Amino acid sequence: MKDCLFCRIIRGEIPSQKVYEDDEILAFHDVNPARPVHFLIVPKEHIASLADVNMSHQDVLGRMLVKANELALGQGLSEGFRAVINTGRIGGQEVYHLHVHILGGPEPVGPMLTRLAS
Ligand code: AMP
Ligand code: ZN
Repeated sequence: MKDCLFCRIIRGEIPSQKVYEDDEILAFHDVNPARPVHFLIVPKEHIASLADVNMSHQDVLGRMLVKANELALGQGLSEGFRAVINTGRIGGQEVYHLHVHILGGPEPVGPMLTRLAS
């Protein structure tokens, strides 16, 4: 998609620190890391969000998740990591090109979310 930030990164119009690339997906470091290791895995096809997927996307979605652990290990995350997909306004999505955040480092990333008061 012409003006999509991540499509522009995929086309090489905006520089990125590449972690991995193949015909279907690209992984690159987040420009504003939330943990010592923070990279994004994106499909090369423009898919706006997880709310826009259908069964035609199952191969590329599977590839993104299957590659996640291998790429995380390559970044030194041998003791685990967190994978996050923010989706839509409620999910806090800022860039509308589907992406998986992979986050980790030497310390645990912390609680997932603050629990609702009971
Ligand atoms: P989200 O809020 O889930 O849509 O996450 C978007 C992510 O994209 C944020 O973590 C940003 O720091 C990251 N980001 C924005 N612009 C760039 C860029 N040019 N290169 C790498 N990451 C970016
Ligand atoms: Zn895009």
